[in-house]
Amino acid sequence: MIINRTFEPQKYEFNSQNAIFKKSLKFQKNQTFDSMQLDTLYSKALQFEFLSVEEGVFLHENAPTTELMHVANELRKAQKPDNKVTWQIDRNANTTNVCIANCKFCNFFRPPGHKEGYITTIDEYKEKIEELFKYGGNQLLLQGGHHPELGLKFYTDLFKELKSYYPNLKLNALGPPEVHHISELEGLNHAETLYQLKEAGLDTLPGAGAEILTDRVRRLISRGKCNSQQWLDVMRAAHQLNITTTSTMMFGHVETIEERFEHFVQLRQVQSEKPEDSKGFLAFIPWTFQDVDTLLNKIRGVENATTSEDYIRLIALSRIMLPNIINIAASWLTVGGKTAQICLHGGANDFGSIMIEENVVSAAGAPHRFTYKTIQESIKEAGFEPQLRDQEYNQREIPENIVEQVINY
Ligand code: SF4
Repeated sequence: MIINRTFEPQKYEFNSQNAIFKKSLKFQKNQTFDSMQLDTLYSKALQFEFLSVEEGVFLHENAPTTELMHVANELRKAQKPDNKVTWQIDRNANTTNVCIANCKFCNFFRPPGHKEGYITTIDEYKEKIEELFKYGGNQLLLQGGHHPELGLKFYTDLFKELKSYYPNLKLNALGPPEVHHISELEGLNHAETLYQLKEAGLDTLPGAGAEILTDRVRRLISRGKCNSQQWLDVMRAAHQLNITTTSTMMFGHVETIEERFEHFVQLRQVQSEKPEDSKGFLAFIPWTFQDVDTLLNKIRGVENATTSEDYIRLIALSRIMLPNIINIAASWLTVGGKTAQICLHGGANDFGSIMIEENVVSAAGAPHRFTYKTIQESIKEAGFEPQLRDQEYNQREIPENIVEQVINY
């Protein structure tokens, strides 16, 4: 496919984000590149071929932003031909903030014995779940720290008890690092742990804690967590058990550009190994490192230097590099609604969740919020039809008695 290199972003005429977009079109100008090679790579991408790490890096370094967006948008239209942008209502509740992993980007955790350490009680869950239902949600995104004393029985009992009170509640719970941690505590393999969690009520497994799936990066920022192979193996085991998962990337810290593309290739490989009847990774959600008050920032001086354009390019490259993951979500929580709107024209087809409660990236500076009304307005403003969904991407009707959350923080 030959790209018209006079392609202009006339489509992106909505208000202030256009200013951000035009201001930062650095890849549009002053670049010398091999246009034939770019066209070859675009053609490969448009045929859903897997691009290599080197090819991805070449696009990252040389392709104009508008061209990347155009190719990604074509791929998105081929995979998701309707004009809908999906979104979700859920609540991120935390099982415990006690953690021994000591990630350098995390302001949420407290070490064992700390006076601010907590384990959420059933009464607190009930209050959170009643409020979740009031705001139209049907799912808890349930995550927490690597507590040294909470083993498999704690989680299976918790899931069973929550499901006994709320049989229709969906549990999108834990993540590969927590599953690995529980497996280590119990001396079980990942499949055995996941099987018992599923039997107890786990519905889906979030792709949390991926950060960047190379061990060099993980040694620098999250040494206490599972390594990249272990993260991927938990997901392989989940797919074998037909547990639907998602995948993520936290970028903009100590990783190299090559390492971002190695991350894509690892995810794509695991997805290509999933059983045919398993949904595998149903979505990919990249977000930017939030640096406020983190050890990574205070001790190593690492700042989140990613621009809106960097994020838009990363979304487009996600669509291009991950042709076997159908949903690409824009993380408005970390980059803001305006940047996320532009991403909908460059590969993203999902706006994530309105997040009635979120305590982890918010603790490191992510300030953005939507209600069920404002997220739909934002999607419409970008030129799409909003569609409420669940974690398995089934469409939902907006509940009749839904109450709009008051955002006062
Ligand atoms: S990110 Fe998770 S695993 Fe890492 S320190 Fe925070 S709570 Fe612990």
